[in-house]
Amino acid sequence: MHKRLSIVVPCLNEEKAVPIFCTEMKSELKKLQEQFEKLEYEIIFVDDGSTDETLHVIKTVDMPNVKYVSFSRNFGKEAALYAGFQKAEGDYVVTMDVDLQDPPGLLGEMLHAVIEEGYDSAATRRVNRIGEPPVRSFLARMFYKLINRLSDIEVVDGARDYRIMTRRMVDAILAIPERNRFTKGIYGWVGFKTKWIEFENVERSVGETKWSFTKLFIYALDGIMAYSTVPLSFATVIGIFMSFLSAAAILFIVVRKLLIGDPTSGWASMICVILFLGGMQMFALGIIGQYLAKTYLEAKRRPVYIIKEETAADD
Ligand code: UDP
Ligand code: MG
Repeated sequence: MHKRLSIVVPCLNEEKAVPIFCTEMKSELKKLQEQFEKLEYEIIFVDDGSTDETLHVIKTVDMPNVKYVSFSRNFGKEAALYAGFQKAEGDYVVTMDVDLQDPPGLLGEMLHAVIEEGYDSAATRRVNRIGEPPVRSFLARMFYKLINRLSDIEVVDGARDYRIMTRRMVDAILAIPERNRFTKGIYGWVGFKTKWIEFENVERSVGETKWSFTKLFIYALDGIMAYSTVPLSFATVIGIFMSFLSAAAILFIVVRKLLIGDPTSGWASMICVILFLGGMQMFALGIIGQYLAKTYLEAKRRPVYIIKEETAADD
């Protein structure tokens, strides 16, 4: 029986990386086709609104079974992955970065896990972050700690998006209609048996990372908010705590008044308390506002991405 593998590759301004990726994949796919009989493949490049020649380079790659989808603007990697999954026709779907930070050499082991070992998914995680700025690694670790604490899904530290999935898992992911897509969370949420494959961090083949600090920070916040409502109960917790505190303070004042009268005490401390409470209220309101905004955006039911052009269907 023929088995078909779809390879989904999101690209943002990767004109230099695409040819390197293709050369590498050609030799890797040859090996795979020897290892797994009757393995067919398709590569789906998703051009996430690149402003350089990426689309042109993709169109002219010298490789069979290449498809592409090009967005009207940058919609983000999450949207690109979603589009790729929708276009993928294979029995197995794998996503990988174009910069070769997801070593193609692992594909054999990943395919083996889903074809022979009965897993629905094989995912990869980096065991170290060599070559990354230490601040970024530290913040990333904090993020994983926080999201795993606050939500009931498990997001594995160091997990890459580099992952192979069976058709039924991909269909489960496609059935999730939410707009604000935090793929790392979605993988965990849909469940299924996943095999974890570890590897050492590989540095980018060419070019710069497309994730600025702000982009990563927003991504982290989105992730936490998409999978946890714990921050929403923050106001309640603070409220309860403050009520107890003020009850104790009132008791203290009454007792003091009865025992030693009421010497005029400074109003500075009072202002401090008022400011503190005001700040807490603003903070809590901000959190509520964030969730409301997310709900608002979901309610608009806007598409996750807009296609500018793609390979003709009969290609
Ligand atoms: N990418 C994308 N849209 C974006 C950001 C990144 O399609 O808005 C792609 C990028 O071209 C690459 C992959 O996602 O193939 C991973 O990005 P990058 O290598 O910049 O991230 P890092 O490996 O540094 O986390
Ligand atoms: Mg990368």
